[in-house]
Amino acid sequence: MGAEILPSSGVSIQLVVDALRSGEVVALPTETVYGLAAIISDDVALRRIFEVKARPFVDPLIVHVLDLSSLLNLVQISDDLFNGVYRLVDAFCPGPLTFLLKKRKSVSDIITAGKKTVAVRLPAHTIFREVLRQSGPLAAPSANPFGYLSPTCAAHVSASIGDKIPYILDGGTCTIGLESTILDLTGKHFAILRPGAITAEMIEDVLGKKIVPYRPLVSADPSAPGMLKQHYSPRTRLRLFEQSPEVEIPHFQENRALKTAILYLSREEAQSRKIINEEKATVFWLSENGNLNEIAHNIFDLLQRLDNMNFDAIYCQIPQKIDIGIAINDRLIRAAAKF
Ligand code: AMP
Ligand code: MG
Repeated sequence: MGAEILPSSGVSIQLVVDALRSGEVVALPTETVYGLAAIISDDVALRRIFEVKARPFVDPLIVHVLDLSSLLNLVQISDDLFNGVYRLVDAFCPGPLTFLLKKRKSVSDIITAGKKTVAVRLPAHTIFREVLRQSGPLAAPSANPFGYLSPTCAAHVSASIGDKIPYILDGGTCTIGLESTILDLTGKHFAILRPGAITAEMIEDVLGKKIVPYRPLVSADPSAPGMLKQHYSPRTRLRLFEQSPEVEIPHFQENRALKTAILYLSREEAQSRKIINEEKATVFWLSENGNLNEIAHNIFDLLQRLDNMNFDAIYCQIPQKIDIGIAINDRLIRAAAKF
């Protein structure tokens, strides 16, 4: 039997909290993507997260907490570092910023994949926060099979892992639609490990100092988490293009007409660009006017829809590398890496 999709209500929250307390893992909405949550002190439930996602144990989980004091219970930091964390929490939390810090002994090695550091964030979604208030800290990676596109609505979760979990709490579509920014505060210089809605510039403005911007180090080694060359991938072959009108779409192969989708950044682009053989493809767009936040909000949803429409290939336009466009680029490049 598949997971029950619960409407957002107090009764649903109670059901989900009871399930978590009895050792189940459940899917919950956040403002970034849907998460697959377990109570952090329950090693059996934590292992179940990896099992449901078919995620390697070397890829650590993010812990979600309600407030700064719950964060401080999980980490060891100097007074100096506390100052920086305090300012960032004040500026961006609750919100899509994850802090990587030295862990306390009490944090399970299953969460951190044996590392001495733990990733923690304060999610903004009101439903997730209400669950946290009752359950205490939750470990929650994205609620999708390892390596697949991230889920940005309850239906995505239901379609991919719905047969493995009891509940999906429906909190609507995720407002941001991309995973949180991960900021490593354990080194001499703070560094972005994963780009997201909170950019390096925004962090620098708050701290008044330079940080190490995101460097797309790629690795096929899952022990370099967050840097996997291939991730977030649809099943359908994905090709990327920039502005280039000279992209040629193959439309025939082995005596068979190919079914191709072209995904433009905006309606304007879709209506003005001419790709060679474009008339043989089906055209979609990610936003009305190219607004990067709108594109981020729609990207995983559109790719999942197209992935279920039996196209032979999806050609997707990539945005400029500014603001959240850096994160969109990162996800698309990884999504296309296996093809
Ligand atoms: P998600 O699948 O969105 O929960 O993201 C989890 C990601 O957070 C991992 O794949 C890592 O990239 C990153 N992460 C979590 N904990 C750590 C850690 N202790 N050290 C390095 N990266 C981490
Ligand atoms: Mg994920």
